[in-house]
Amino acid sequence: MHRRPLPQTIVLFADLRSYGLALYLVFGVAAVIVAALVYAPIRRRRQRRALAERPFPRQWRRLLRDRWVLYRYLPSNVRFALQRQLQVMMSATDFYGCNGLQVTEEMKLLTLAQAALLYQNASQDQLADFPHVLLYPNAFVREGDTTDELGLVSRQRHVLLGESWQQGRVILSWSDIVQDLRRLDGHSLVIHEYAHQIDGYDGAMNGSPLLPNETVYRRWTKIMQAAYEDLCREAEWGQPDIDPYATSNPAEFFAVISE
Ligand SMILES: [Zn+2]
Repeated sequence: MHRRPLPQTIVLFADLRSYGLALYLVFGVAAVIVAALVYAPIRRRRQRRALAERPFPRQWRRLLRDRWVLYRYLPSNVRFALQRQLQVMMSATDFYGCNGLQVTEEMKLLTLAQAALLYQNASQDQLADFPHVLLYPNAFVREGDTTDELGLVSRQRHVLLGESWQQGRVILSWSDIVQDLRRLDGHSLVIHEYAHQIDGYDGAMNGSPLLPNETVYRRWTKIMQAAYEDLCREAEWGQPDIDPYATSNPAEFFAVISE
């Protein structure tokens, strides 16, 4: 069947109308995406504030008092801030049991309570995400290739108690966390690995966490560098008060002194 072609002006009008509709559609979808992106952090902040405001469960408080020696010595204002942050972290942290470990609420609470010490003064506006936690029953083995000065590559096995990854992941051994809960000597695997996470929020695990401005960065670097060099000198001459592992590099220095 032969159709008579439409006059040119009508074709042009129809084209413009369909372009207009397409444009409306594109702008509409873009507006919805932008609104969702803007609203998501506001919603998260509101949810976190509501979580922090909730009364702290009595059985959690009892568990902390019974199982974590340091908790008994914390001043009441620190306990209060820690408990607020802990409620948020309990709901915002994903745990994964490894090597068959079944992660219980008790394990989550006793792990995150130590981490919450580091986050107690951080506002919910500053924190985007908390790291995921991979929990092993005991020390775990990590295999990796290392290259020496001659370019020789060898496969090595390391037994680790904990590990912190830049991509927001912390790996911990539960049996070592249990030991730390009973001690008051400045050793905490959880605090160590979470300190690496806080150090990495600015994009690099190098011993300086996210700080408000350039002046504070300069001051931080000056003080930390001097303290690091002092400790390295002390470690050369004898046994320093701080774990000599802190002399490995500025990132380990930050993590160890956080403990
Ligand atoms: Zn470390």
